[in-house]
Amino acid sequence: MIALVSGGSRGIGRSIVLRLARDGHDVAFCYRSNEDAAERLAKEAAEHGTRVTATRCDVADGDDVRDWFTRTERELGPVDAAVTSAGITRDRPLVLMPEDDWNQVLRTNLDGVYHVCRAAAFSMSKRKSGAIVNLSSVAGVYGNAGQANYAASKAGIIGFTKSLAKECGPRGVRANVVAPGLIETDMVGEMPEAVLQKQLKNVALGRLGRPEEVADLVSFLVSERAAYITGSVFEIHGGGTF
Ligand code: NDP
Repeated sequence: MIALVSGGSRGIGRSIVLRLARDGHDVAFCYRSNEDAAERLAKEAAEHGTRVTATRCDVADGDDVRDWFTRTERELGPVDAAVTSAGITRDRPLVLMPEDDWNQVLRTNLDGVYHVCRAAAFSMSKRKSGAIVNLSSVAGVYGNAGQANYAASKAGIIGFTKSLAKECGPRGVRANVVAPGLIETDMVGEMPEAVLQKQLKNVALGRLGRPEEVADLVSFLVSERAAYITGSVFEIHGGGTF
């Protein structure tokens, strides 16, 4: 299988790249700016004996994503699975939120998913086969104070993916959402400690999730074991919904 992963250089995306390579798949991942992390990961993932490519590509830019997708299919072959993990936060109460923070989050998180899925759905539909997994968040399902921009982008991903599943199901393409809670990555590291501790108190299992635990779910969803699953939202949050 050939898998495409956006935002693969760090965090959850990184674990997904490693897991898919371990599963025996060729993986093309993209990152925005952290070239060192991307190169280190490409080497590590390739140790599983599959082909791994790392490309600098801003998912908010439609031309960038088209170039990345075309290059991937030219170098590796037709993409069978696409996973969108690229995402950012710009947290602030709505009344203090500058338009730029709103726009950047929506462009990266939601437009980014549109750009990747459009290219993937076109290619997969032609071959009548493929699986898409989009990373949302519990914030997109339940809302979260201080994250109106982020929650809007992540809720948008859910409506988008459910629609895509209905559109592309008849052409053999599945699309699902994974909505994580608090997962131990740089993104959570950026949260003020007091806010993190307060939110952790609401997590039934009493700990942060690990990126590998999210990657396990993604690995299942892109596989044939999930052949009858599409248009679904999978929450993975240890019992913590804020
Ligand atoms: P990280 O901040 O750890 O990593 C983000 C990744 O996305 C990096 O690889 C980064 O690249 C890449 N990226 C960011 N912006 C762009 C862009 N414009 N174009 C291409 N790549 C980009 O995030 P997480 O791993 O924590 O989050 C992954 C996904 O999971 C996100 O969509 C996030 O919203 C979601 N999520 C995370 C949760 C958590 O608790 N961590 C909870 C719920 C959802 P670079 O290294 O170059 O910066």
